[in-house]
Amino acid sequence: MMYVSTRDKKNMVTAAQAITHGLANDGGLFIPQGTPKFSIETIKSMINKSYLDRAVMVLSGFLTDFTEDELKQAVTSAYTPEKFGEVPVPLVQLGNNTAVLELWHGPTSAFKDMALQLLPYLLTMSLTKTGETSKIVILVATSGDTGKAALEGFANVAGTQIIVFYPSEGVSDIQKRQMITQEGNNVNVFGIEGNFDDAQTGVKEIFSKASIRETLHKNGFIFSSANSMNWGRLAPQIVYYFSAYVDAVKAKKIRLGEAINFVVPTGNFGDILAGYYAKLMGLPVGKLICASNNNNVLTDFINTGKYDKNREFYKTTSPSMDILVSSNLERLLYLVSDENDVKTKERMDALKTSGIYEITEAERNAIQEDFFGAWVDEIEVKESIKRVYDDYKYLMDTHTSVGYRALIKYRMLTNDAAYSVVLSTASPFKFSDAVLSALETSERIKGEPFEILHKLADKTGEEIPQRMLELETAPILHDVVIKAADMENTVLDSLVKD
Ligand SMILES: *Cc1c(COP(=O)(O)O)cnc(C)c1O
Repeated sequence: MMYVSTRDKKNMVTAAQAITHGLANDGGLFIPQGTPKFSIETIKSMINKSYLDRAVMVLSGFLTDFTEDELKQAVTSAYTPEKFGEVPVPLVQLGNNTAVLELWHGPTSAFKDMALQLLPYLLTMSLTKTGETSKIVILVATSGDTGKAALEGFANVAGTQIIVFYPSEGVSDIQKRQMITQEGNNVNVFGIEGNFDDAQTGVKEIFSKASIRETLHKNGFIFSSANSMNWGRLAPQIVYYFSAYVDAVKAKKIRLGEAINFVVPTGNFGDILAGYYAKLMGLPVGKLICASNNNNVLTDFINTGKYDKNREFYKTTSPSMDILVSSNLERLLYLVSDENDVKTKERMDALKTSGIYEITEAERNAIQEDFFGAWVDEIEVKESIKRVYDDYKYLMDTHTSVGYRALIKYRMLTNDAAYSVVLSTASPFKFSDAVLSALETSERIKGEPFEILHKLADKTGEEIPQRMLELETAPILHDVVIKAADMENTVLDSLVKD
């Protein structure tokens, strides 16, 4: 299967090239030409397979220039019991027709690990396949979780250097601590004065600037991306939709073939796009519920067909979703416009110059067939954390709570009672202060981050992830904060030759 740029179909590459480069030179995103199809029999055959074997099946459909053995080796190295526990993605039942898919049992306690533990293996193999000998510079803009997960995945990986930019005042205390304590001989971490969109825009600009690419090339470096703009990041996320489905069948919660809904706390639209791909592949999915926080640009887009980022940016208790420009939406626009690269480019150009674009009614209707948009305010986030804890003794983080509450809204508006899976994207301990203040129905909880972490554990009896406990005493290694305008120079200054 070949991949093309969403902004120029003539720009065609293999999966290994798409993974190596991350982003197309024309600024577009690589997207597979077509979708592998799984029959119900194939899906049935997954029921008694391990997560690793399910992953190999799904990935083989997309990464056709990788052998099954290579994929097996990659997933076996990535999803070890040491890093993910015995069950990498548990499906936890909440009542009869709702379940939570816990995607945060990896080393950084966020769902990003599902892809970013695997990506370095896929990338290293891709380099061999493409004959690329330059050192890969992974540039990351992060709203909190991608940064740490990418650092953890790429630290000390030979032939790579990783540079992470995070909004210095826009991530949780634990997220920040995770990043600024990162060890590794090939890692750089910078705070920027600005929000996530500033960081992401900066990274995209560096990527698409020919002059920087040339400078890098001459010096033996090339850029790649660990953001969900990289297909190698997206493909591993398709796996857990299948895995959740067959686990629900196995637990006799649904019949094989029955359509179920997935609720996805959404920021950059990567995770939910992976769900859409699962549906395109033949997984019986009803609606994909796109859950947003106060930054509800996607809810409006799904409802009206008009994307308008010219609006106030809110800092919320679910910072990984504080995003106004959702990069992966570009892939959906490409798909629903009948793979129209010219139209997609026009829309992305309009987004850049005016902050607005609008799709046709037919395209909007097509999107509404598969997606439902709902947004959740800060009071509702807290209420739902408390209610779910009181009712089920189940502790959700703030992002998962956005998803859960969006599902409640969806059910009220539609009366659709289908079995629904809420993707749980982070450990509640990652956002301890917001979670604890929700349980104690107080305003903001005060205190040192680690004091709050322990308080939450004491109150709930839940266990703090070991890796998070270790942060308390880890030395701070990266404390530089720069202006967003200085990102380009910072990158050039940071490059290290081996
Ligand atoms: C990244 C992230 C999201 C949003 O995922 P996207 O793929 O960017 O839509 C939601 N929740 C958490 C905890 C995250 O880290």
